[in-house]
Amino acid sequence: MARHSCGYEANVLCKRCGSPLAYRERAGLYCPQCGRRVTTVCPGCGKVWT
Ligand SMILES: [Zn+2]
Ligand SMILES: [Zn+2]
Repeated sequence: MARHSCGYEANVLCKRCGSPLAYRERAGLYCPQCGRRVTTVCPGCGKVWT
């Protein structure tokens, strides 16, 4: 489960390996399994999820 700074929580899956993405400050959304960084727009506040 990844949590955005606005409070929105979503279970976002990695498109490459299907693992749940994690969120870390500064690094943003990333996949702990394959290390892929993901840029997406938060459905909660409409801002880029970084
Ligand atoms: Zn992955
Ligand atoms: Zn948000």
